[in-house]
Amino acid sequence: MSHDGETYGHYIGGEWTDGAGTDTFDSQNPATGESIATFHRGSEDDVDAALAAADDAFDEWRDLSYIDRAEYLWDIYHELRDRTDELAEVVTKECGKEISEGRADVVEAYHMVEWAAGNARHPHGDVVPSEVGAKDAYMRRKPRGVIGCITPWNFPVAIPFWHMAIALVEGNTVVWKPAEQTPWCGQIIAEMMEDAGVPDGVFNMVQGFGDAGAAITDDERVDTVLFTGSAEVGHEIAGKVGGEPGKLAACEMGGKNGIVVTENADLDIAVHSAIMSSFKTTGQRCVSSERLIVHEDVYDEFKDRYVETAKQVSVGDPLDEDTFMGPAIEPGHVEKIQRHNELAEKEGAEVLVDRFELDDDEIPEGHADGNWVGPFVYEIDYDSDLRCIKEECFGPHVALMKYSGDIERAVEIHNDTPYGLAGAVISEDYRQINYFRDRAELGLAYANLPCIGAEVQLPFGGVKKSGNGYPSAREAIEAVTERTAWTMNNSKEIE
Ligand code: NAD
Repeated sequence: MSHDGETYGHYIGGEWTDGAGTDTFDSQNPATGESIATFHRGSEDDVDAALAAADDAFDEWRDLSYIDRAEYLWDIYHELRDRTDELAEVVTKECGKEISEGRADVVEAYHMVEWAAGNARHPHGDVVPSEVGAKDAYMRRKPRGVIGCITPWNFPVAIPFWHMAIALVEGNTVVWKPAEQTPWCGQIIAEMMEDAGVPDGVFNMVQGFGDAGAAITDDERVDTVLFTGSAEVGHEIAGKVGGEPGKLAACEMGGKNGIVVTENADLDIAVHSAIMSSFKTTGQRCVSSERLIVHEDVYDEFKDRYVETAKQVSVGDPLDEDTFMGPAIEPGHVEKIQRHNELAEKEGAEVLVDRFELDDDEIPEGHADGNWVGPFVYEIDYDSDLRCIKEECFGPHVALMKYSGDIERAVEIHNDTPYGLAGAVISEDYRQINYFRDRAELGLAYANLPCIGAEVQLPFGGVKKSGNGYPSAREAIEAVTERTAWTMNNSKEIE
């Protein structure tokens, strides 16, 4: 991307356009505060044009075979693979995750594209027995039409492909709004779609903010909304779209994730898992752990080791391979993290690590205007009325809680949040592990691993306040297709 003062636009109907409005916004590097580039801010009129283009392109696109549609995705797959390092740098510069995580974002994107394109050659329905011998009965899938995709900033390459790869290969057309914090990643993905020759109108991108997102979700031409982001916005969308007959929304939201460390846990695994899960991406992953629920028999040793490591994790320039965590996404988010830290203190937290404000010598040279925050760790007695152990902070903010008794008690505490996204148990006892797997209220459960990653061939989603539907992987097929129960009479008999 050049920095020559150009203002970048939207990609609608196969054309680059500045759009109808005159407002612009800048993408900013969270590690330096510097502006990266300027973008046109999409309006309702731009969304209207994008939806019209997607609607027009639908019939021709749906008539292609699965395999022909997948060919476009294979081009994108190779492009993502060939340009992984370059794109990782873009991700890191625009959203501040350290460079190995920037790379992982791109790798996850091409894994998802590979999965969706490969799926074009897999069976797509069910043949079922008919009650009458001379009948064929089977289930056929059809594309739903226009899919509105709305994505967050924290996985600015992977999550758009979670939504779009499957929507496209199944024969739908797409209108996508990238997060306002990561428009540069949006620009590059749109250029890739153009370079791959995706037919005009099949893929459309409108840059902008929540008002452009709402213009997508509210339009009657949109058949399905795929959303990943905060619970606040996701519930609003699910509520609006759910009230419209014939329209679907699959929304993935946040969590207040926890790790249970039992009395017989391997503490090397426990400390490593908790550190990775609390502080990677500066705690700004939907699966990041903000609660550690530790058995009294191992509590003191775990606490000492965890606290010591949390004091030492390196916060710094995310382009440096030795950095463990980079900055927070934006100044407003730093303030939000501070509010959560203050709430914990107000509710009686005993603070064990307070690196919220970093020392001057911890901030890399030339990065004074970055959005720097460090780990904040506290211990607190579990009490169901506490807000600090129930509300998602989405930062490096961690509560340590002691439990006594058995795994049932740990899971009871674990389940006491409105969310149900991700969690882990660290234990050497398979009965405890199985109990956690079966009774923890979660969409994503891990044993003896950090709850941090995702494999694209597994469903990715949450329960309770964390999600309603799956906007990615195999389960997303349900959201972007309709089923026809097809019955055909092969005989001359008239029923
Ligand atoms: P956000 O909800 O603020 O924004 C997400 C997207 O929604 C952005 O593109 C935004 O412009 C758009 N938007 C905002 N208001 C809208 C409205 N009224 N109508 C339609 N669109 C609107 O979330 P964020 O800050 O970008 O991301 C962080 C959140 O995302 C965290 O809560 C995190 O846990 C969650 N997240 C969840 C997953 C998951 O798979 N469960 C993955 C990543 C992030």
